Amino acid sequence: AGALGELVVLGIVRATQDRARRREITPEAVPDEVASALENRGTSSLRPVLNATGVIIHTNLGRAPLSAAAREALQDAAGHTDVEFDLTTGARSRRGAAARAALLAACPAAEDALVVNNGAAALSLATTALAQDREVLWSRGELVEIGAGFRLADLVTATGVRVCEVGTTNRTHLADYTRVLEDDGGDDERRIGAVLKVHTSNYRVEGFTAEATIADLAGPCRAAGVPLIADLGSGLLHPDPALPEEPDATTALEAGADLVLTSGDKLFGGPQAGILLGRAEIIGRLARHALARAVRADKLTLAAIEATITGSEPPVLASLHADPEALRDRTEHLRDALGTGDVVPHDGRVGGGGGAGVPLPGWALRLPSRLAGSLRQGETPVVATVRDDACLVDLRCILPEDDEHLLAALRSALGADEEDSR
Ligand SMILES: *Cc1c(COP(=O)(O)O)cnc(C)c1O
Repeated sequence: AGALGELVVLGIVRATQDRARRREITPEAVPDEVASALENRGTSSLRPVLNATGVIIHTNLGRAPLSAAAREALQDAAGHTDVEFDLTTGARSRRGAAARAALLAACPAAEDALVVNNGAAALSLATTALAQDREVLWSRGELVEIGAGFRLADLVTATGVRVCEVGTTNRTHLADYTRVLEDDGGDDERRIGAVLKVHTSNYRVEGFTAEATIADLAGPCRAAGVPLIADLGSGLLHPDPALPEEPDATTALEAGADLVLTSGDKLFGGPQAGILLGRAEIIGRLARHALARAVRADKLTLAAIEATITGSEPPVLASLHADPEALRDRTEHLRDALGTGDVVPHDGRVGGGGGAGVPLPGWALRLPSRLAGSLRQGETPVVATVRDDACLVDLRCILPEDDEHLLAALRSALGADEEDSR
């Protein structure tokens, strides 16, 4: 009770008694079950899990795991910290100055940077500040629905921005944009507040397709005096050879985007955040907008963003770049230690917000599908993929130092399985 709090202990005692009442356990087993539940209980009910799906950015599993440096930064910033205070002068300072400086050092193509709550907040803030009561010009091929039924167009229109759709599902040409931009303005006030390019991060349109690129749009946008926003989703700051089709902030800014938006917990590999990079004048307008205060990042996020950049390679990039041969060795090692299962080819995926449809060749340990449930419910929960009546354990997203925990979890699930079959 001292460590976890009385309410937590009481909750566990009651839940265990209820299990006895439902005859799931015997009344005599209650004290032992309570003791083991208390032992396994962390200070929050969120439990660390091993992601054995091979999907690097798994939104249901908390997206990017933080680097060691970012975890340490969270600890350091957890108490009082100088997030908005200058220790030299004793005066108030710019909030999150260190995270901003780290972002600008990592992405020199940007004049300024701002960190907000998440990618959706970045998009809402950008379109509201630049186009409230006006319209954003947006290709019909890029009206993305992200997870859980949320649609980016609904997010944008929620703050009184209207959407001016151009083109079709499969083809949108530069002329579709320029026709609207050239008709706009004149003697009347401008109707278009911004042009928005959205990375179709979770789907691909193939076949008879056409799009206007950021480089195509930059000139006409500049001529019309309308800012060009690029929502990149995935969070790469630089091109990554492993994902040649994936957009990155540096290339987008160099191609002429005035503002790029990315998520912090996708391929950037950090905490949940929205990262805005771009022209100083535009970032300044966004930072001064009333909505900026409603979506601002907390001190923990700012600390973790900085450390994600300055620390060693974040785990998402290590998983992305994992050598298939090394994955095969680890998987074979696991099979040998377990004495069961087959090592089979298994493609990993980038997952939410990047690399749609791009397979990442790798390997998995194939086990009977009935093990998946006990793996999920073990002391160290392991989430694997169930497909074709098999449970596929993929090591791509498991840190090598966690291999022994994975082995222990697999042994315990196999042990429970044997007991059941007896
Ligand atoms: C993921 C994504 C978002 C939303 O970002 P969150 O950080 O999840 O809020 C917006 N746009 C695109 C293109 C995305 O991929």
